[in-house]
Amino acid sequence: MNRRWLALLLSVVSAGAGAQSPPLSGTAQVRVEITRRGSEWTADYEFDRESPVWVFPRTDVTREDQIEWRPLSWTVETRGVKLERRGFYDALTARGKVPKRVRIRFTPFTKGLRADYTPALQFTDGSVALYVAQFETFPMDSVREVKALPSDLNNQYVPDAKLQYVLRDVAGPVWLRGKRSPIATTDDKNTYVFFGNLLPLETPAMVGFIDPQLPEWIRGSLSQSIPDILARYTQELGPPPGMKPTIMLSWAGPTPGLTSRAGSVLPGLIVLTYEGERVLSEDEAARVEGLQFIAHEAAHFWLGQTVAYEYARDAWITEGGADLLAMRLTSLEHPAYDWRADFNKAIEDCVDLTRKRGIETARERGENRAYYACGAVFGLIAESASGRSFFNFVKRIVDANRADGIVTRADWLAALDAASRKPELSRDIARMLDRGVSDPKAFIASLFERAGVSHDVDAQGMPFLP
Ligand SMILES: [Zn+2]
Repeated sequence: MNRRWLALLLSVVSAGAGAQSPPLSGTAQVRVEITRRGSEWTADYEFDRESPVWVFPRTDVTREDQIEWRPLSWTVETRGVKLERRGFYDALTARGKVPKRVRIRFTPFTKGLRADYTPALQFTDGSVALYVAQFETFPMDSVREVKALPSDLNNQYVPDAKLQYVLRDVAGPVWLRGKRSPIATTDDKNTYVFFGNLLPLETPAMVGFIDPQLPEWIRGSLSQSIPDILARYTQELGPPPGMKPTIMLSWAGPTPGLTSRAGSVLPGLIVLTYEGERVLSEDEAARVEGLQFIAHEAAHFWLGQTVAYEYARDAWITEGGADLLAMRLTSLEHPAYDWRADFNKAIEDCVDLTRKRGIETARERGENRAYYACGAVFGLIAESASGRSFFNFVKRIVDANRADGIVTRADWLAALDAASRKPELSRDIARMLDRGVSDPKAFIASLFERAGVSHDVDAQGMPFLP
């Protein structure tokens, strides 16, 4: 063996023996155990390596006053480790490397964020739902690298980390995706986990965690309507895959001068928080809006989750479809609600937003309303031309595309052809999607005519449902 080889060999040996922690490559493994002990909450991180920085990708600011929420909610208990904002992200740092075990104490943060899920929902009986992904993290080699990260990590290379989330409450079981267990474990972070013993409202089609102190006029109405809405969807469209549709409804209290209903939807789950003094008094319009919100979001369990669109430009399929389904279900639940008035507004908006411009590019112009309005209009055309209910049309496209989980524009238009046997309808809808038309009022009226939608036309030529 010559000297050069020997030297190389020695240096490898010494690196292996001498280094404090050999650099690990590949996917980082992280276990984080989130524990509730009465009013005390901790997150115990176990990292598979020492790293200079651990970044929290779910860093956003509050919706109301654009402040950083994590420093208000989290306190690092491990000596020498700091939680700091670097560029767009919160990160754990230390002089040298962050050790493999870090304990964080936190207070569930219940204010809404600008563009992310609310970290926690607080129920008045003491139950709490936590958004699991707030604990996601990945390692980086330097603070400089963190500062260089863009605000949007979509399509951005970031170091891989595999997280296991362990969730437990010393007082009793936790509820995760339809199951109650003493310790819940998941690697799928995009959901809320429920801590507490609030008894859910459970029917064959849904589970609802409804705050017992939610003003009675909302609680009473929704406790009746949510099971009805989910039962109807399930009966018409078949059960959605995955967990039973779940709704978490919390009451943040009668904050003076405020009326707020903030909600979001995740796989199989809708979360909704009511807040404000004015929510205390019964309000017919607010009741209908609440129902419509739930009916629209619940429609996405099928149209959006069982089958999703292929590209964002195809959002008319899911948003317009969910809007038309919600109009129908809201009118069933609340007979005083006139779905035709909402539908006529959709026609007017679709007319305004398709004059010489295509629906598919609406997003680029900030005209997202086109997806909702025109999608609902096309839904009614499909219903009428098929001679069966819109539920039936939606069931066909859901069933036909369950296998790959994607409903493309071509799938939707082909379903219309099959149901209507009038290919000129889908050809004309494609024209509105691609480039719009010069006279949308007349164009939509003509589509209605040929599809057999019973409608009228006003003095300005605007088609409407009488
Ligand atoms: Zn929607």
